[in-house]
Amino acid sequence: MAKRQIDIVAKEMGLDDNIKKYLQRVERCLIVSIPILMDNGKLEMFEGYRVHHSTIRGPGKGGIRYAPNVTLDEVKALATWMTLKCSLLNLPLGGAKGGVCVDPTRLSRTELEKITRRFTSEILNIIGPDIDIPAPDVNTNPQIMAWIMDTYSMNKGRSIPGVVTGKPIEIGGSVGRESATGMGLYYVLDALCSRENLDLKSQKVVVQGFGNVGGTIAKILFEKGVKIIAISDISGGLYNKDGLDIKSLLEWRDNKHLLKDYDNDNYVYINNDEVLEIKCDILIPAALENQIHKANADNIECKIILEGANGPTTPEADEILQNKGIIVVPDILANAGGVCVSYFEYIQDIHSYFWKLDRINQELKNIMVNTFEEVYNLAIEKNLTLRIAAYIISISRLEKAIELRGIFP
Ligand code: GLU
Repeated sequence: MAKRQIDIVAKEMGLDDNIKKYLQRVERCLIVSIPILMDNGKLEMFEGYRVHHSTIRGPGKGGIRYAPNVTLDEVKALATWMTLKCSLLNLPLGGAKGGVCVDPTRLSRTELEKITRRFTSEILNIIGPDIDIPAPDVNTNPQIMAWIMDTYSMNKGRSIPGVVTGKPIEIGGSVGRESATGMGLYYVLDALCSRENLDLKSQKVVVQGFGNVGGTIAKILFEKGVKIIAISDISGGLYNKDGLDIKSLLEWRDNKHLLKDYDNDNYVYINNDEVLEIKCDILIPAALENQIHKANADNIECKIILEGANGPTTPEADEILQNKGIIVVPDILANAGGVCVSYFEYIQDIHSYFWKLDRINQELKNIMVNTFEEVYNLAIEKNLTLRIAAYIISISRLEKAIELRGIFP
């Protein structure tokens, strides 16, 4: 998918074939085995990956996900999108991603810590503040980042907080990092509504996903008085045409309950396919990739799709949505708030000087809104989709960097 997207944009912008070839490959991938002595005394082997797609514009940057079905190809695509995302925001960072094939809900806390520390040890030589800086992604969190930071630091003999972002605040994390992806989504959505003359408050919103990204954007919009008419987690979703009480659903989630078990007679239970097809104004896919594809794109009824997840829309679906007149705000723009505040965390760690929340959110807003305006203006000027416009801006910057540095040797 990532390669096809680059193909499409390359054609549109007349990209040099050499640059296209360069960007369609990852720089390096490391596949590691992770042996874990489980609590029951049995040894289990897990597989993990860390991929650097590009370090042309700076150290690799990107999250680590824990999921039973992670594949190397998936991690390569996700690393590619990180390069494009960081370049679009003009952050001095490249793109990377990691994954461990494991269902973390099956692990005890001790097993989770062991797997994290062993994976970190295995990738130790290709991470570091000026090599590649991991962060949270699907099913990973600040505690896991703390173990990564500690394992790396113990091996180096000193504390190195800048090796990873998304850490707890007490050990060099940044205020505003946990909510950053959701805040970024909100800033972009607000700016888009202004340009499209839409009153955000009167839009009906559907959110797929109730993790860090889906939960935060739902909370922000709910607090602003926007109606969230449906939301889903892995167990399915809840729908109410008059809006859901997101505050109480978040409490339910934080107490480790699934949405399907939530008891409210006014809410209708829907399955995960149905969530995407509910008629609404704004659809926010904030779960996994490949959710909107050629088989369901035609059934989607909304004005705007705001991509909270990475790669939720396939290129075939993109075409269908474009013909239906749906505005798709692409992942590399919409969900870039996370890596943006990761960058702030990284520079705070390096300088050992920490910012206040107001500054974080103000600088985040500036970058997100300015990038959105750049993308939107190019799309209008050249009659392009927002995805193509975003890719052109991002790839042009990468092209320039490759040209200036030259191809070694
Ligand atoms: N996992 C997030 C993303 O996909 C954040 C990555 C980071 O902060 O490095 O953008």
